[in-house]
Amino acid sequence: MDADYISTLKQRVKQLALELEQTKAQLKLEQQERAQTEATLRASNEQLQQILNSTDAGIALVDAERRYQFVNRFYEVRFNRSRESILNKYVWDVIGEEAYASVKDYVERVLKGEPQSFEFGMVYRNGDYVYLTSCLTPAFSSDQEVVGYYLFVFDSTERRRLEQSLQAANTKLEKLATVDSLTQIANRRKFDDYLEQEWQRALRSQQPLSLIMFDVDAFKRYNDYYGHQKGDDCLVSIAQTVKLTVERTTDVVARYGGEEFAVVLPNTDLFGATAIAEQIQQAVKALAIPHETSTVSTVVSISLGVASLIPTTIGSPKQLIASADRALYAAKQQGRDRYVVDSTQGQGSTPS
Ligand code: GH3
Ligand code: MG
Ligand code: MG
Repeated sequence: MDADYISTLKQRVKQLALELEQTKAQLKLEQQERAQTEATLRASNEQLQQILNSTDAGIALVDAERRYQFVNRFYEVRFNRSRESILNKYVWDVIGEEAYASVKDYVERVLKGEPQSFEFGMVYRNGDYVYLTSCLTPAFSSDQEVVGYYLFVFDSTERRRLEQSLQAANTKLEKLATVDSLTQIANRRKFDDYLEQEWQRALRSQQPLSLIMFDVDAFKRYNDYYGHQKGDDCLVSIAQTVKLTVERTTDVVARYGGEEFAVVLPNTDLFGATAIAEQIQQAVKALAIPHETSTVSTVVSISLGVASLIPTTIGSPKQLIASADRALYAAKQQGRDRYVVDSTQGQGSTPS
């Protein structure tokens, strides 16, 4: 063999060995990098899992067939079943047919590509009734086809409950603001509002609006003789009886002040109002509450003033109150225990 050739070969082998070393070093470096990347990936995946599982909200992926493809821990805890028994199951098999029926429309819409937000109520396996606020977002494939939806859901029962108790408190407050605490009928404030409202309505429709005002006869003597407590009881009986006497739901009986009451009668003419005044007078009489010291009767009696008119743009509810008040005053003047119809009522405002 040629010495030159051997030298060239040796050279070549040396170079190859060097290249091999370099490649090995390169590989080792790449391996290290990959291990590092994998570790980072694992850490970030764990972090993501932790976030998904520690959140007090449900996160899921549902496919177009309506089967769960991913659920976080929320599902296991709330539905009290393993993740394996949820995955690949149909939504209705997990949340129940009834609950599914109430969300079906939203599911259909999200599968058409429209995001949905809503709240619905359902019964958990343990019997708890809960409200769940849900956000559904369509999941798209790379070619923009809807392949399912992402689901984000959180328990809004507590908020719902607060809302409901707030509503109950508001209703109670509203009632307190409009109901007389002693007699439990409408108070003066409610009377003022209602009369104004019905005045406006009658003005538009040009229908008659009537008002009866009545006052307990010799009530000072009643209090003096029977005591204030009995006086209160008497007012409650009268209020409740009169409330039962007026039949239409639009009629409002209110405590106008002290031992004076008012009855607003929408769509009622003078004839109708007079008939009601007579019924009220009889009903109070029929209670037969003894009144030893009355100058008028042996039992508690009332005097009533009746007024009726068709509202005009120049008039106001004050006009109707004044009219009924005038009639009430006349009833007292004429000896009490009677009703009087205001003769001057509606002058210039009722058709003759
Ligand atoms: P008249 O026949 O003219 O109406 O005589 P009256 O005694 O009823 O009238 P007066 O206005 O002199 O007295 C009204 C009485 O009603 C005096 C007041 O103490 C009593 N009164 C007003 N509000 C209440 C109440 O809430 N409870 C009780 N027990 N008495 C009340
Ligand atoms: Mg009185
Ligand atoms: Mg009075």
